[in-house]
Amino acid sequence: MTQLAFLIAPMHGHVNPTLPVARELVARGHRVIYWLTAQFRDAVAATGAEFREIRTPPPDPRLPADTDPLVTLALIPARLAAAAVEVLPGVLDGVRELGPDTVVVYDQLCVWGRLVAEVAGVPAAMLCTTYASNEHFSFLTGPHGRTVPRIPAAMEVFDGDLGRLAAPILFDVDEVSVHDPGGDRPRVTFTDAGGTARTLVCDVVAGCDGFHGVSRTAFPPGALRTYRREYPFAWLGILARTPPSHHELIYAYSDRGFALHSMRSPEITRLYLQVPAGERIEDWPDDRIWDELAVRLAVDGFDLRSGPVLEKGLTSVRSVVTEPMRYGRLLLAGDAAHIVPPTGAKGMNLAVADALDLSRALVPFLSGRSTELLDGYSDRRLHRVWRAEHFSWWMTSMLHRFPDDDPFERRLQLAQLRYTVSSVAAATSLAENSTWACRTTSPEAGPRQGTTRRDSGAEPGRTVRSPRAPSGREASTATPGRARRTRRRSGSPEAARLRRERR
Ligand SMILES: Cc1cc2nc3c(=O)[nH]c(=O)nc-3n(C[C@H](O)[C@H](O)[C@H](O)COP(=O)(O)OP(=O)(O)OC[C@H]3O[C@@H](n4cnc5c(N)ncnc54)[C@H](O)[C@@H]3O)c2cc1C
Repeated sequence: MTQLAFLIAPMHGHVNPTLPVARELVARGHRVIYWLTAQFRDAVAATGAEFREIRTPPPDPRLPADTDPLVTLALIPARLAAAAVEVLPGVLDGVRELGPDTVVVYDQLCVWGRLVAEVAGVPAAMLCTTYASNEHFSFLTGPHGRTVPRIPAAMEVFDGDLGRLAAPILFDVDEVSVHDPGGDRPRVTFTDAGGTARTLVCDVVAGCDGFHGVSRTAFPPGALRTYRREYPFAWLGILARTPPSHHELIYAYSDRGFALHSMRSPEITRLYLQVPAGERIEDWPDDRIWDELAVRLAVDGFDLRSGPVLEKGLTSVRSVVTEPMRYGRLLLAGDAAHIVPPTGAKGMNLAVADALDLSRALVPFLSGRSTELLDGYSDRRLHRVWRAEHFSWWMTSMLHRFPDDDPFERRLQLAQLRYTVSSVAAATSLAENSTWACRTTSPEAGPRQGTTRRDSGAEPGRTVRSPRAPSGREASTATPGRARRTRRRSGSPEAARLRRERR
């Protein structure tokens, strides 16, 4: 006999499909225990399974009665997150009491199902009671085919509910430093917003404080090794109130340097120019920026839309990796541990992937079950970080003008560009690198099924990344379909030859 803890989101569409499964398991001599709200008591009893009651918070009164049903649908995860706060402790105690010979069976929307299994240290199986979801399916645009409207009231509820799940966030703190990271109880000292000196005694410290944060400085002397490359140029970026000039990102390679056109929203465009390192922002009035962008992005049939500049800034272009990403109970994640040049659009993706890996490693560590995942954190992440570093360095080297380039180097760059935009193998490699840092399988294991597909809008035979694959901020810039748009200044014979070759 197996004991099965059924943790299902308390909604008819999720509970009903599980009832025949429970009935069959009971008939085969297994013990099935459901944790559900009272309305399901009779339905569960009819299957022969045991019933334990959970109480979830009432619907939020702030949502107007005439709320679009799609908004209500979109808020379900937030509602369940709020419910998780209430029900998790009781369900966890109950599952622990059942003992180690228990299997948690949870449905895909039951936020606390997986958590309970992980913390209790018992095996878990997920039931897909409704649609399957993966990287090709977005909940917000999913089964109904239209985007859920973002009404302010709905987002307020969403933020509020998720906020309740998190630990308190302290703003305006000062003089932060990390102490004794090698000990069992590392400490973080700081001055709070009211000027009071405070100490936080921790199980672990996650150093997610960016490139200029203090976490790295808490490593003892000699414990960290830093690998670094500074590039002889910077990116001048603007945010402009103007609709994007094209529906895709454009990476432009020109005699005058690199330029990038990307979009933030239907009304806001983000644009970048390669400029020499040490350039001063005062030397770049808006007109000069638009003129330079127009020259570098010029190609037949393309009109650059200009508009008011909302933001303007310079970003250094550098590659940095610090190793290892862990010292004792201090763990680095994101820009605190590594920086990539923005050309590969990988920085935020790497940071999120670090955080995801770390969160998974902390569950068994903090519940006292195993240190194995946490022990492997630094090596696992550095393996991927270096892959992303190489990809970002490679994209940067291919697309920028270097002050000491000679004609030979320039022809090598063009040869690489032509190869990248004309070879299916090269384009596939670029797509794989573009998505790899956040994936759970490695390139060595081969492309995961479904990450590439034939796209009807692409050139015949060209494989491009699925447009539904998840991407971070501007993270999809480096897809082959987009790389094809990489261009030189339109008027030159070189550009004409490239265009002919593409055709
Ligand atoms: C121009 C540009 C374009 C980019 N484009 C992309 C892109 O298209 N795709 C992509 O994936 N990435 C991109 N990135 C990179 C991305 O922005 C970063 O890699 C990402 O933000 C790193 O996240 P993080 O949380 O590690 O660090 P950060 O975003 O730097 O966050 C660290 C936070 O910690 C806070 N902090 C620091 N010290 C303390 C302290 N003592 N106490 C309290 N708080 C503290 C900081 O204020 C900051 O809010 C781009 C970067 C730039 C500059």
